Amino acid sequence: EPALIPVERHHIRREQLSPAARKVCTALQEKGHKAYVVGGAVRDLLIGHPPKDYDVATSATPEEVRALFRRSRIIGRRFKIVHVLSGPETIEVSTFRASQDANNADTDEHGRVLRDNVYGSQEEDATRRDFTVNALYYDPTTETIVDYHHGVADVRQKTLRMIGDPRTRYREDPVRMLRAVRLAAKLGLEIDPAARHPIRDMGVLLENVPAARLFDEMLKLLFSGYSLKCLQQLREEGLHRGLLPLLDVILEQPLGKRFVTLALENTDERVRQDKPVSPGFLFATLLWHEVLAAWERKTAAGGHSQPALFEAMDEVLDMQAGKLAITRRIAGDIKDIWALQPRFDRRTGRMPYRLIEQPRFRAGWDFLRLRAQAGEIPMEIPDWWDRFAHAGHDERDELIRQAP
Ligand code: ATP
Ligand code: MG
Repeated sequence: EPALIPVERHHIRREQLSPAARKVCTALQEKGHKAYVVGGAVRDLLIGHPPKDYDVATSATPEEVRALFRRSRIIGRRFKIVHVLSGPETIEVSTFRASQDANNADTDEHGRVLRDNVYGSQEEDATRRDFTVNALYYDPTTETIVDYHHGVADVRQKTLRMIGDPRTRYREDPVRMLRAVRLAAKLGLEIDPAARHPIRDMGVLLENVPAARLFDEMLKLLFSGYSLKCLQQLREEGLHRGLLPLLDVILEQPLGKRFVTLALENTDERVRQDKPVSPGFLFATLLWHEVLAAWERKTAAGGHSQPALFEAMDEVLDMQAGKLAITRRIAGDIKDIWALQPRFDRRTGRMPYRLIEQPRFRAGWDFLRLRAQAGEIPMEIPDWWDRFAHAGHDERDELIRQAP
């Protein structure tokens, strides 16, 4: 029997939820279905973090949910879920599902579950979730939490505990190792030793995870607002190798380390202030020192500067592509930023005028500035461009005459 935890013991009031999450739950309940806010939002509210988004779990089928909300659509990736739109919000509604019993589920040769779309009871739904703190169900009508796995106690003890046998659960889905690291770093939880210990030798299983899924998870990690802490913890758990190839090498070169650290600090700060962040910009920084090394190798071998840079860019992105499926659009953004860099050195004639007209000038200049802050190039260069961008016409000609 699950523990039913009343509001006096957890203090989450229904007013703290987003209006959309409440509306979705009550509408489903009025039709006789069970419906709860579940997962990250309940966990975050208990810890005192603002929830990023809301997931609802229900006994209603996706078709029943779809029929109930005009602005909704069924999304079917690994399993059918319904996105319900309400004002600016999207609520993810999923039907209670059975646990992934590795005996009868479809798995690959390493035991990774390929399909888990069998509906089940609420209790089964709780058991197929990853961590106890992620398996809490909040009913906005009664303000009660339904807790099958002592998740509330684990939140209080700041422990991230796996539901079931950690090794089995990592085999079913190796991405749970990355989730463990990200959630622990972001929420200040300790990974329970039983869940932490197997990561070291099971990390290799991440190699079998489709590149697109790893990329999604990597984005979540890098844009969690705690990316430095996450990467530090990935290193501690021995998980950094092979994810962003050579991230370990990069972080060990003094210049690369300073550069990547600055970029991640900036990103964390922006995420925490709710400012927009760009995956292209961040990946461009993470891989820049690889590009520099390849570029130097090619010019030392007699290659011309510009073609050598483009070859180096493709080489680094290709190497990356096998592991993480960086989307085509993001790869385009990355290349734009890199390709602009040598153009900041040409401060003669009409060149600077043309460069500041580039649509990606701003991103390229931010990147240039980061290179200077990391000590790779003199600060004089981004400062000059700053003055040039803000100067009037006559002043610009004067700046070009004075440029070193
Ligand atoms: P956040 O949204 O802050 O990243 P979250 O825990 O809400 O954290 P989601 O990816 O939104 O993460 O997943 C919602 C819920 O679905 C989780 O809380 C968990 O209960 C369940 N879940 C997600 N991924 C997995 C997984 N790989 N294995 C088992 N359960 C999962
Ligand atoms: Mg979530």
